[in-house]
Amino acid sequence: MSISRRDALKLTGAATILAGTTLVAKEEQKKESFKAPIPPKTNPRIVVVGGGWSGLSVAKYSKKESSNADVILVEQRTQFISCPMSNLWLVDKVDLEYLTHDYLEAARENNYTFFNAAAIDVDKKNKILHTTNGDIEYDYLVLAPGIEYDYSCWTDDVVLERRLRQEYPAAFMPGSEHLTLKTKIKNFKGGNFIMTVPGGNYRCLPAPYERACMVADYFKHKKLDAKVILLDENNNVTIKEQGFLTAMRELYKDYLSYHPNSKIEEIDLDNKKVTTEFEEFEFEDASFYPYVRGGKILEVVGVAKDTVYNKLEGNIDYISYEAKGEKDIFISGDASPMGFSKSGNTSNTEGQYVAKIIANRIKKNLPIKWISPVTICFSAVSIYPEHAIFIHSEYAYDKKKNSFGFATPITSENWRGKDGLENAKGLYSWANSMFIDMFKK
Ligand SMILES: Cc1cc2nc3c(=O)[nH]c(=O)nc-3n(C[C@H](O)[C@H](O)[C@H](O)COP(=O)(O)OP(=O)(O)OC[C@H]3O[C@@H](n4cnc5c(N)ncnc54)[C@H](O)[C@@H]3O)c2cc1C
Repeated sequence: MSISRRDALKLTGAATILAGTTLVAKEEQKKESFKAPIPPKTNPRIVVVGGGWSGLSVAKYSKKESSNADVILVEQRTQFISCPMSNLWLVDKVDLEYLTHDYLEAARENNYTFFNAAAIDVDKKNKILHTTNGDIEYDYLVLAPGIEYDYSCWTDDVVLERRLRQEYPAAFMPGSEHLTLKTKIKNFKGGNFIMTVPGGNYRCLPAPYERACMVADYFKHKKLDAKVILLDENNNVTIKEQGFLTAMRELYKDYLSYHPNSKIEEIDLDNKKVTTEFEEFEFEDASFYPYVRGGKILEVVGVAKDTVYNKLEGNIDYISYEAKGEKDIFISGDASPMGFSKSGNTSNTEGQYVAKIIANRIKKNLPIKWISPVTICFSAVSIYPEHAIFIHSEYAYDKKKNSFGFATPITSENWRGKDGLENAKGLYSWANSMFIDMFKK
């Protein structure tokens, strides 16, 4: 069908009106922008976006390192729910209270301001953070927004994406997704329950394997005729391989079937079928974990780039954590691009280091020496009884590969007997100490 000149003119007119409307809307937005209800800035101000494992650590340690600074933590949620330990909550080993923590308490204990709002943009020239609850001036800005999902690894069809997000959520970001997944697990009557492990540097390398083991143990305990089908895009378990593979083989032979090299080619939700390069799987229920990318605010602010691992992670200098070409803006936690294990402990230690860098900048001292983040990661492999495995490592930079790798890994992958029980105790002590570190003085 051809389009007449008159139609074309009409369309151009419409486009002009639309463009005009957008401009007017932007002008009005500008006019309507308002100051956040916080006292005016009198000291150096550090504003942190994102109250997750990294942002909470940046806020607390910034106040410790720079006691005269005015520290503001901007978080869109009203309460903190932990992803670490949530796999145990899915199978009723801990309750929701154990995972839930109070932002106001963290701010009171550590003498900073908690500001409940979503960051929407940054005026980099004038050093102003725009939020849904008003504008905040900053001297130093830290973006720690964590991850978002990247469904483009499977589909460009937004209808399918919407169904995957809503009906089969990954539950790798805390909140409703976890509630949905828990209900699915509790109500599962039998058959195949598909879970997936994405490629790239996804959030928490061991968590999909830990979750598969937890759910398999739950099905086993309930004596269900049910199986977790774990489709892994990678060619092997990506971390603590020995521990997970032996547990899967010895404990869950009839309840868990692990498939490496299983990149998903098609998801047919109507017929409940998943196709990989080599096989087809039918399922009764599922939770699909896609690739991850950095939080959207990075892209909005113009400080995101594609990496060898994922799309749109923080575009920062690996040593100073400062955004390239953007002085005084830093990025920390899972949104950073270094290829570290995207874990809570890593994010916490990165947050402490970023707080030191900013303190040094305030004191106008020389740059500080690079401090490696620390990954300490316990994973439960069974709940009846509770057995776990763990890894502890710092990182080293490989100049040739231009990337970081584990430098000092210490692992305990024997989940059997006394070792496994001790590791399970370690899991709880680690989580308790991290909650204290983030929320108490
Ligand atoms: C099931 C599971 C198990 C895990 N187990 C472990 C474990 O055992 N050990 C371990 O060390 N790690 C574990 N992890 C990983 C750990 O949860 C993450 O690595 C960690 O949360 C990353 O911290 P972060 O601060 O970068 O991101 P997050 O903790 O996700 O925090 C980001 C915060 O930013 C906020 N935010 C985003 N955008 C905006 C905006 N525009 N404005 C305001 N706020 C915003 C979000 O609401 C969120 O609160 C696990 C993860 C999962 C999913």
